[in-house]
Amino acid sequence: MESKIWLSSPHMCGKEQSFIDEAFATNWIAPLGPNVDGFENDIETYLKEDIHAAALSSGTAAIHLALQLLDVGVGDEVICQSKTFSASANPIVYLGATPIFVDSESETWNICPNTLEEAIKDRIANGKKPKAIIAVHLYGMPYKVDEIHSIAKSYDIPILEDSAEALGSTYKNRKCGTFGDISILSFNGNKIITTSGGGALVTKSKKLRDEAVFLSTQARDKAVEYLHSKIGYNYRMSNVLAGIGRGQMTVINQRVQQRRANYDYYKSNLKDIEHISFIEAPKEYFTNRWLSCILLHSENQKHQLIEHLNGFNIESRPLWKPMHQQPIFKDAPKYLNGISDDLFKKGLCLPSGSNLKDAERQRVLDAIKSFFKK
Ligand SMILES: *Cc1c(COP(=O)(O)O)cnc(C)c1O
Repeated sequence: MESKIWLSSPHMCGKEQSFIDEAFATNWIAPLGPNVDGFENDIETYLKEDIHAAALSSGTAAIHLALQLLDVGVGDEVICQSKTFSASANPIVYLGATPIFVDSESETWNICPNTLEEAIKDRIANGKKPKAIIAVHLYGMPYKVDEIHSIAKSYDIPILEDSAEALGSTYKNRKCGTFGDISILSFNGNKIITTSGGGALVTKSKKLRDEAVFLSTQARDKAVEYLHSKIGYNYRMSNVLAGIGRGQMTVINQRVQQRRANYDYYKSNLKDIEHISFIEAPKEYFTNRWLSCILLHSENQKHQLIEHLNGFNIESRPLWKPMHQQPIFKDAPKYLNGISDDLFKKGLCLPSGSNLKDAERQRVLDAIKSFFKK
């Protein structure tokens, strides 16, 4: 059997090790230290726009803290894009609030402006104004930033921008991760860059950033004794792992290019297969192509292609199953238009790592072609 081709595997550049060695040499083996400060600084420099970053243990932790900083609590409602990974929505439930799921539009696959406005109006008519909106740049494709933010603004609802998959993507030349009242990034093992596990909360407000760090380090008040007036968390990033992040940030632009090259390769070589279609970036949208996605002709064909690729030891994966279809969220209110259901039926993610070798991409291509020749 030929070696396994993974969907998206970690891709080290070599510089990570020296930052880790430095942490060992200086005994900064703790959830604070020079690598944590340095990594935050790298993120801020990369995103620009006066951004302040807090490095945390995961993207999920960042969402959890962000929702609290947006004052979400028991009994509140939070609107969330339905087509996403469950980590976008789970922290709503951690806080005793209710997720309200909103469907996608077909141009970017992200939260639909019309459906969003319909949901907001209906929730307000039901007696509760949503406390926040979680919008996601799925697979690195920016959501309709102008439309979504103008609706949020007109109802005075803050946006939590889930940029876990979109580091390196831009909308109208501005980087994803800089649009939300609060934004989050993820450095999980499969993301565009990784710290093995990790995330960040990023915001233009220095006050919110400092509050996030405070909550993430057990919310210790400024006092000699261990004094707590708020419930805290142990969510800070380790200085060892932040060293990996510093190494990874030196190659972020290459990583984006390599992911985009995967997409271009698949697209140029598969475009003549009638049953496969691709999602193009609209004008002024720049996507990091975290995962290369295709749409097939039918649900059955998707299942068969996954099986077929599996037979060649190639990992592929359906698009995220919408949250409104998940057993855990079956009772959550939802505003649907059919688009995310249809995308889930037909959509597939292909191997997309920035470390894919030419021969591996060729293997994926040959396997797909052989499927359609059958
Ligand atoms: C990965 C991911 C997260 C969660 O990040 P972790 O660092 O794995 O906790 C949240 N939202 C989306 C859309 C993701 O893809």
